[in-house]
Amino acid sequence: MKTLIHPQVDNGIPATAEGFTGGTLQCQCSHNPVEVTVTAQTAHNHVCGCSKCWKPEGALFAQIAVVAKENVTVTANADKLQIIDESAAIQRHACKECGTHMYGRIENTGHPFYGLDFVHTELSKQQGWSAPEFAAFVSSIIESGTAPETMADVRNTLTDLGLAPYDCLSPVLMDAIAAHIASNG
Ligand SMILES: [Zn+2]
Ligand SMILES: [Zn+2]
Repeated sequence: MKTLIHPQVDNGIPATAEGFTGGTLQCQCSHNPVEVTVTAQTAHNHVCGCSKCWKPEGALFAQIAVVAKENVTVTANADKLQIIDESAAIQRHACKECGTHMYGRIENTGHPFYGLDFVHTELSKQQGWSAPEFAAFVSSIIESGTAPETMADVRNTLTDLGLAPYDCLSPVLMDAIAAHIASNG
């Protein structure tokens, strides 16, 4: 049986479009959906196994990317948004009705990723967003109920898709966090 990771990667990963400058994300409400406009290409797109990221129904992983917060604006039905956990480092703004996370924002100016918002580009009808590059927090899917004995299949599937599996973030991002900590002593 094929191991399914996420609908955006299971049947091949759509390519990043050169010159792509963003688009709109919509929640899953059929009526008055929340709309978020992103006015830039995203970066560091990846699939994430942590238990905090929003996943579509049935998906093993979330798929998430970052973009400068200046490029993220709620453009419709903002009143339907609520913050999942005000005390979390990443404040995830979700639709009260359908539960979809529309963007995650870091308010702590000392955080290594301050200034970047986290977005799920699968919520966009536009094609050309930056393609997923790696898999983060892979072991964490066990915390959400995945059987430990299936992990070898999951890691092999991710590797075959070109999404190197890591149990934290990718080396590039871990290095960025460490450099931030070192420079702030
Ligand atoms: Zn909704
Ligand atoms: Zn996550």
